[in-house]
Amino acid sequence: MVLPLAPQLSPVTEDPATIAGYLPELNTAALIMSIVHMTGDTGILNELPSPRTLDVVAAGAETGEALLEGGYTASQVEFVRERALAAIADWQARGGQLPPLTAATMDALYRFMCGPDVDAEYLEFINEEVALDGVDRRGLQLQDPSLQARAANFPVVIIGAGMGGVLAGIRLGEAGIPYTIIEKNPGVGGTWYENRYPGCRVDVPGHSYSYSFAPNHGWSSHFPLADEIRAYFDTCAERFGVKPHIRFETEVVAAEFRDASDDWAVRVKGADGAEEVLEARAVISAVGQLNRPKMPAIAGLEQFQGPLVHSGAWPRGLDLAGKRVAVIGSGASAFQIIPELAQSASRLTAFQRSPVWMFPNPEYHSPVGEGQRWALEKLPYYSKWYRFWLFYTSVEGVYDKTLADPEWHSTRSVSAANDGMREVLSAWIESQVRAPELLAKVLPTYPPFGKRILQDNGTYLAALQRDNVEVVTTGIVAADARGLVTADGVHHEVDAIVCATGFHADRFLFPMQITGRGGISLNDQWSETNGRAYLGITVPNFPNLFCIYGPNTNLVVAGSIAHNAESQVHYILECIRLLLERDQQTLECRQAVHDAYNTRVDAVNAATAWGSPLVENWYKNEAGRVTANLPFRIIEYWKMTHRVEPGDFLIR
Ligand code: NAP
Repeated sequence: MVLPLAPQLSPVTEDPATIAGYLPELNTAALIMSIVHMTGDTGILNELPSPRTLDVVAAGAETGEALLEGGYTASQVEFVRERALAAIADWQARGGQLPPLTAATMDALYRFMCGPDVDAEYLEFINEEVALDGVDRRGLQLQDPSLQARAANFPVVIIGAGMGGVLAGIRLGEAGIPYTIIEKNPGVGGTWYENRYPGCRVDVPGHSYSYSFAPNHGWSSHFPLADEIRAYFDTCAERFGVKPHIRFETEVVAAEFRDASDDWAVRVKGADGAEEVLEARAVISAVGQLNRPKMPAIAGLEQFQGPLVHSGAWPRGLDLAGKRVAVIGSGASAFQIIPELAQSASRLTAFQRSPVWMFPNPEYHSPVGEGQRWALEKLPYYSKWYRFWLFYTSVEGVYDKTLADPEWHSTRSVSAANDGMREVLSAWIESQVRAPELLAKVLPTYPPFGKRILQDNGTYLAALQRDNVEVVTTGIVAADARGLVTADGVHHEVDAIVCATGFHADRFLFPMQITGRGGISLNDQWSETNGRAYLGITVPNFPNLFCIYGPNTNLVVAGSIAHNAESQVHYILECIRLLLERDQQTLECRQAVHDAYNTRVDAVNAATAWGSPLVENWYKNEAGRVTANLPFRIIEYWKMTHRVEPGDFLIR
C-alpha cells in the first residue's frame, strides 16, 4: 500500500455548503489557528479563551457547562465555525494567497495555544516539532567539503529497520554518511511488521505517530491498525531512499569494538545461515524494547498439541474461528486480541493475572472522517496545528498525576491527583460491568499508571461479558496436550493457546553479543537485565555505540515515542558531527556523567506510580529497578538531547 504523504495544500474545490458540513469534524483550536493564517488577522485570539488540554471536565464543573474539545462552549465553537466559513470564502476569493507568516504572528499563535507566559525555550521545543515555518531543524547538513569528505569515510551500521532505524538512515543519508541497515525481517516496520495479531493497532493518535517531516494525512482511522503503520514506515523508507541500504532477513549476531583500529566489526548472519563481518565506525542499535517475545514459564506447555502462539509472532493466516481458545495475559496486546477473537471463537477463556486500567476514548476505533481529511489536506496550517494539539496535550496531559506524594499513604493510589484519576477510571469500568463477580475481577486495586493505561471504547469489557467468554483469575500451574490446569485443579480444555505475555523488555540488545573496549561484554556490564545508558543513548566502555529507544527511554504517558526517536537521532548525529569536526576516532561517555544521570533517573522513577513497590510491570527488571521508562518531562529530555556537551565524553 502506498500512502499519500502530501505536505502541500490541495486546492479547495468544495462548495460552501459542503465545507460547512465538514467543519463539525474539526479540532476547534486548530481551526482557530487556520483562520489566523488565512486572514493574517490575530484579532480572533482576543475574542476567545486559550484552549484547555485535559482538564476540560474539571473546567466544565467550574462553569456548570458541558464543554467540548479544548474546553470551548457550544456557542464558542459555533462562532469559530462561522468565522472559518467567512475566512475560507475570503481566502478563496483572493486566489488562495496567504498573508506572510511573520515572527510576530507565530509568536501570538503559540502564546494563545501555550499560554502568554510560555518561555522562549519551550517555544523552540514546540516549534521544532511542529515546524510552522516548514524548516526541519533536526537533520544534519555538512557544508564544509573537508567535513563532507570525513563523513563519507564514516560508515555506520544500523541494527533494525523500524521507526528508529529508518529515521537514522534518513538522517545519515542527508548528512552524506554511508550506512547499512541490518534487518532480521523480510520487510520494514519493526514492531509493526511483527505484531500482526487480530486487532493490533497503535494506541496513540496516528496523526502524531509519524515523523515530523513526513506527515501522513491519509490515516484511515484515528488509531490506525498495525499494517497501515507498517505501510507508512515502508513508504518513508522508499520515499527517502533508505530501502537500498537495508539488508533484509539478516541478523546481527555480534558486534565487537576493535581497540587496535578504533572501529566496530559487526558479525551478521543471512537467511542462508552464512556469516559475514561488516566494518563500521559506529553502530546504532534501533532494535526497540519490545522485540523478543516472552513465553510464560508454565510446566508442560511444550506438550500442548494445538496451535500455541505468541501475540508478537502471530503466524500468517492463523484462523481460530470456531475454536476453543485460551488467551493468557491482560496487557495491551490481550486487550486488543480478546475482542477480536471472541467474535468468532466458539469459546474464549481469558486467563487474567492482573486487571488493567483503561481510559475512556470513544474515538479509539473510529475512522477519520471526510471533513477531517479535507481539512488536513486543504486548510492552511490545519495539519500542523492538529499535530501540535495532539503532541501538546500529551506532553502537558497527565504527567503530574503519575508522580508519587511521599505524604500520601494508600495502596490504591500514589497521590491525591492520582487518586482522582483512579476514581474517574473506576467509574468508567463500573459503568460497563453488570455482574459484581466480574467487576471484582476487572477493577484494578493498584494505582493508575502502575501499568500501561489502555485506550478504550468499551469493546474489551463488552467482550468479557459475552456468553462465549470466561475470565479466569486463578493462576495457571501447568499445561498438557489438551489445555491448561489452574491452581484450583480445574483442567481447561482448549484447541489453541494464545500467549499475550509480553516481551523480554529488560534484556536490551538481546540476544546479540556486544563487546566494547578491552573486551568488556555489554551483557556483563548490564548484569543481563540492568540496562543503563547516558540519556538512554551512549554507554561507557562502548565507543561510538548509540542506542535509539535504549534503556530508560520508554514513555508511559507524556509525549510521543516518534518525537523522542527524533530527539535521539538528532543527538546521535550531533555526536558524529563532533567527531568529524575534531577529526577524532571515537567518542565514549564518561562513567561519572553516566552514573550521575542514572542516579537521577532512578530517583525520579522510584517516585512515580510505575516505580512504586505496589506494582509489578514490564518496566522493572527482576531486581525491581525501572529499566524501561524515561521519568522526565519531555521538554527536559529534549533539552538534554538538543545539544551535545563535549565534556560528557572521552573523545580520542
Ligand atoms: P505486557 O504488558 O507485558 O502484558 C503481559 C501480560 O501477560 C500481563 O497481563 C501479564 O500479567 C501476563 N502474564 C505474563 N506471564 C503470565 C503467566 N505466566 N500467567 C498469566 N499471565 C501472565 O505485554 P503486552 O500486552 O504485549 O504489551 C507490552 C507493551 O507493548 C505495552 O505496554 C505497550 O507499550 C506495547 N503495546 C502497544 C500496543 C498499542 O500501541 N496498542 C499494543 C500492544 C502492545 P501481569 O500484569 O500480572 O504481569
